[in-house]
Amino acid sequence: MSDTKILHYPPRPLEIVGRIPARGYAAKSAGATPTPWDFDRRAPGPRDIVIDLMYCGICHTDIHLVRNEWGISIFPMVPGHEIVGKVRSTGPDVRRWKAGDAVGVGCFVESCRECPACRDGDEQYCEKGVVLTYSARERDGSITQGGYSDCLVVNEDYAYRLPSNLPLDRTAPLLCAGITTYSPLRRAGLRPGDPVAIAGLGGLGHMGVKFAKALGARVAVLSQSNGKRDDALRLGADEFINTREPEALAKNANRFVFILDTIAAPHDVNQYLGLLRRNGMLVQVGAPAEPLPVKVFNLIQNRRRFGGSMIGGLRETQEMLDFCGQHGIAADIEVIPIQKVGEAYERMLRSDVRYRFVIDLSSLKTA
Ligand code: NAP
Ligand code: ZN
Ligand code: ZN
Repeated sequence: MSDTKILHYPPRPLEIVGRIPARGYAAKSAGATPTPWDFDRRAPGPRDIVIDLMYCGICHTDIHLVRNEWGISIFPMVPGHEIVGKVRSTGPDVRRWKAGDAVGVGCFVESCRECPACRDGDEQYCEKGVVLTYSARERDGSITQGGYSDCLVVNEDYAYRLPSNLPLDRTAPLLCAGITTYSPLRRAGLRPGDPVAIAGLGGLGHMGVKFAKALGARVAVLSQSNGKRDDALRLGADEFINTREPEALAKNANRFVFILDTIAAPHDVNQYLGLLRRNGMLVQVGAPAEPLPVKVFNLIQNRRRFGGSMIGGLRETQEMLDFCGQHGIAADIEVIPIQKVGEAYERMLRSDVRYRFVIDLSSLKTA
């Protein structure tokens, strides 16, 4: 009799009792183009949310990691850290989200929450090691898998509220390209009209142009692709400088207060340092694996500084998303089905990106 009673209880949702089946695209080994892969997400804990993923941007970091250029990759690897979707379900202790909410997930999904960096809102520099969204080890030893997939399980504190006035596909790239450019530009303390240059007009670069402009700077694009001149101006830049023309560089020597270098490949950073005025600073966010040799006289002259920056913390990322909502800033994108991810990588490697590929994850249903 009591057995019959138990059968009448509503069954517990699968996600509370066990792991969640997921479908994605994974690189199975270094350099392999991502192909379909079925895997499991972890069983959600009390403070986890399960997200049905809708769009994922393709960051050049995905390419570096798929090709194991930084020597830290773990395979099979589901790349993707520019993720938007809708909450499917929430654990019993989740406070911030309910089913149906639109949320974003960026480059990391956990941190220690206690170290000085975490306490300062710099979780990306967590002293115990931030847990990246993919190709990283969670505290329990399992491997994280990213956003080229249909669902994700994440602690509620590591998801972001999205601006309600922006289309979700154009919002996805804000989760990495957006915050990575917003953070150093915001911290540069720019004054209205300050001359600023953005080096490299790709996914990061085009967001850098939009943010620098919104912060009141006079913006120049430093690009090797002459064909992007009109786009640079349309995106808000005041001028375009072709870095393949030595006379154009010479004309702009000692001019900029701040340069954001987003270039993904090895390049001569001295060319760009020479464009900084007294006390100017170049911040490197582009991350080629190879060293970028610096001539020290390019730093000594004009008291220039050469620095770096990695994405942004939880608070700053939310601030950036809210800023985008207020200023109507979103990425310029080309939406592709996941089956075209290999083609998108090839085009990005040829600098033929205008200006972010975003995967429509509904295409996974036909994969
Ligand atoms: P992307 O969309 O592929 O754009 C990179 C741009 O760099 C290209 O469009 C091109 O712009 C320029 N470029 C490429 N090869 C070049 C070369 N040999 N010489 C000069 N310029 C070249 O890449 P992304 O997604 O913006 O990412 C850019 C870099 O930032 C990657 O290394 C990525 O890993 C890194 N990243 C860093 C962080 C961080 O936290 N620091 C976060 C995200 C990404 P033009 O055609 O205009 O010349
Ligand atoms: Zn990225
Ligand atoms: Zn920490």
